[in-house]
Amino acid sequence: MDHLVIGLAYGKFRIAAITGKDTVEEARKRHNLSHTATAALGRSLLGAGLLASSFKSDKERILLQFRGDGPVSPIVAMADRNVNVRGYCENPQVELELNSQGKLDVGGAIGSGMLYVIRERDNYEPYTGTVPIQTGEVGDDLAYYLQISEQVPSAVGLGVLVDPTGEVRSAAGLLVQVLPGVPEEDIIQLEEKLMNLGSLSHRFDQGETPESLLDDLFEGWNKLEERPLKFACDCSKERFQRGLFSLGREELSDLLETQQSVETVCRFCGEKYEFSREEIEELMKKA
Ligand SMILES: [Zn+2]
Repeated sequence: MDHLVIGLAYGKFRIAAITGKDTVEEARKRHNLSHTATAALGRSLLGAGLLASSFKSDKERILLQFRGDGPVSPIVAMADRNVNVRGYCENPQVELELNSQGKLDVGGAIGSGMLYVIRERDNYEPYTGTVPIQTGEVGDDLAYYLQISEQVPSAVGLGVLVDPTGEVRSAAGLLVQVLPGVPEEDIIQLEEKLMNLGSLSHRFDQGETPESLLDDLFEGWNKLEERPLKFACDCSKERFQRGLFSLGREELSDLLETQQSVETVCRFCGEKYEFSREEIEELMKKA
């Protein structure tokens, strides 16, 4: 089952690991994603989930926006404390050739540009951090963001394995953050371990779990928390009704001149909400 595990290792590292096969598969089906877009959006959703692992309040949310010049960009992914994730990409059907390592070309799909990370908390102004996209492979970019914008030395690994049929076989991520005062030799040792880790998505395809991965990397680590992960959106017909209402009487009447009903689609989850002629007329009366 999809979930996020949060822990501490030796008082030196804050660690989190995530598995999200069903969540990414749900995103793929909802947005009819190509193989490349499945990997790109899937990694972004898991990355948002990993970054949300530090949240303490239910009101906190994080939004990642990759604004690159690649054909699948921009990509938007959002997560809250309860690891409800949702997101979309601009061109979900674009397929790219495999890259030189024979992998889905997420870097090429995203391209170069900027990564925006927006953190929302209740009673606070949203905080936006912006960094240039490094490789577009998502994990590297999030690690760079944490290092530059939040001054936390971090490693982020993300992987999505897609079957030839397009179905998601595995989706996984790992976040390691170095706590203040950790000696250089411990960091070097950690880097070596991470370098020899191999492909996360292949490991999870062969039965790895967040727990077993952390056992392997950080023997004797302490589990602090576990949270279920799922694809979930907070949209509703009511919200779209408010949106339509805000268009005003004239615009609504224009809509009805050309169509019998109005269909609205949520960008984040692909859910469709249909408004009949009667419902639109009702809105016009109130406008
Ligand atoms: Zn939605």
